[in-house]
Amino acid sequence: MEDSIKSEFITWMKKAGAFDVRVADPSQGFDRVPEEAKPLSLWPQCRSVVVFAIAMSPDCNNIFLGPFAPGESSRNLGPVPENIQSEDYALGRLARLFLSSVTLKGMLWLTHFDHAVSFRSPPLKIAAYESGLGVYGRSGLILHPILGNRMTLGVILTDAVLEPDQRLADFEPCTNCVLCIENCPADAYDPSIHYPEGWSYDTCTRKREEISNAGYYCHNCFAVCPAGQLSDSDLLRIRNAVSISPEHNFNL
Ligand code: SF4
Ligand code: SF4
Repeated sequence: MEDSIKSEFITWMKKAGAFDVRVADPSQGFDRVPEEAKPLSLWPQCRSVVVFAIAMSPDCNNIFLGPFAPGESSRNLGPVPENIQSEDYALGRLARLFLSSVTLKGMLWLTHFDHAVSFRSPPLKIAAYESGLGVYGRSGLILHPILGNRMTLGVILTDAVLEPDQRLADFEPCTNCVLCIENCPADAYDPSIHYPEGWSYDTCTRKREEISNAGYYCHNCFAVCPAGQLSDSDLLRIRNAVSISPEHNFNL
């Protein structure tokens, strides 16, 4: 019964635009999260943490980013052309709206079948890792087996009891790769510490602010990452296939 609800729900979410949907058990695996951010602290009725990925269009992806050769004297990404900057801003807004739309459609489906949902959200990356949506890369980003880091993550807490998925096994995209470390202008990675703990948020943020104040932008670790299987043309095809279908209106 639970499996049937889960598979119907996943089908619905995919029609709404999610590329992949997984479920984490709220009572397991969130040990590293501060007490107040654990799913059951956020919402004691929570029985399932639904995590989903939306494939990121190449337009929202590397349109003005690019890998830089290790050791290049200026590893900044170059000034962002004005027209691209505004386009990027608009695309970013659209991506956030689309994420909200998929989240809302998922919530509507669950409430239509008498399940409660919460708007509160535990840390997304840990939820994605625990649900098996992806694994941590050296960069600290979550890497999906197909999308790599080219995705936006969303989460829904619900009291519906859905069979939890397991952490991903046998997916180790970073084994023979150090591109994000080599291309980080902040040296924010300590390779002697097992990732993702080897990545320093503070060091990265300080450098990004410095770069940003000079009119540049750094997302090298994102841009250089080869993990995933989809090309830009694949991502465009997925984006174009996601359409608003009548069954996804609000009259369930
Ligand atoms: S975003 Fe941060 S961690 Fe990534 S390459 Fe730039 S400075 Fe390094
Ligand atoms: S760039 Fe390479 S090492 Fe870094 S996260 Fe991606 S696959 Fe892993």
